Amino acid sequence: MKILLSNDDGFQAPGLAALYQALKDVAEVEVIAPEQNNSAKSNALTLHSPLYVNRGSNGFRYINGTPADCVHIALTGLLGYRPDLVLSGINDGANMGDDTIYSGTVGAAMEGYLFGVPAIAFSQVEKKWAHLDAAARKARDLVLQMSSHKLIGSAPWLLNINIPNLPFDELGHVKLCRLGRRHAAEAVITQTNPRGDTMYWIGAAGPSKDDAEGTDFHATAQGHVSMTPLKVDLTDHDSLGYWAQTAARLSEQDKNRV
Ligand code: MN
Repeated sequence: MKILLSNDDGFQAPGLAALYQALKDVAEVEVIAPEQNNSAKSNALTLHSPLYVNRGSNGFRYINGTPADCVHIALTGLLGYRPDLVLSGINDGANMGDDTIYSGTVGAAMEGYLFGVPAIAFSQVEKKWAHLDAAARKARDLVLQMSSHKLIGSAPWLLNINIPNLPFDELGHVKLCRLGRRHAAEAVITQTNPRGDTMYWIGAAGPSKDDAEGTDFHATAQGHVSMTPLKVDLTDHDSLGYWAQTAARLSEQDKNRV
């Protein structure tokens, strides 16, 4: 099994090293990750400045770009082969509900999925890496289970997995979840720099708004590992009928005006 591993916290992040260590004996793992922390960069690609690939003292290759840049470059020429699986993480903190729209961890995995490779984004629920070894071991077990069920190397799919910060023996089983929702982010924070200019800091993500049973928020709060299949199509299929009628009325008014 050939795995391309990336992340959004940067090539020196403990979560990346832990996932590499957990998988290196069961797969050929190539790491290509961002040079800097690229959290919340989503699927961004760098189009207006050159990208360079270097190898760090930890043996991992890194790129002065985004998570999606790393996977994109790897799959479109750098690797020279097609991996069986793209993994991203383990992220420092949850990627649940609306986080998935902003997440660079999900963005890296999604880039693999868009190129037709099965992909998984792994995140730990709490920041600061408590019980990281347990999360890496759980991630490895899941990859091996999927491999034994012939899910890897098949048609592409995209999974978002959040692992509570618990000792391995206390981790609940994997629960299939829908995404929950968060409240809007907290207010922007302003400070004054030493030259008197106002600086703005994006506020923290909001608390959960929809954490009902069946959501990723609910499952992880109960100690379970949440697993959500994601898709890329943002079409609101449920409202297509409503908008068909509305759009017809609008175009009717448009015609009458002429
Ligand atoms: Mn991150």
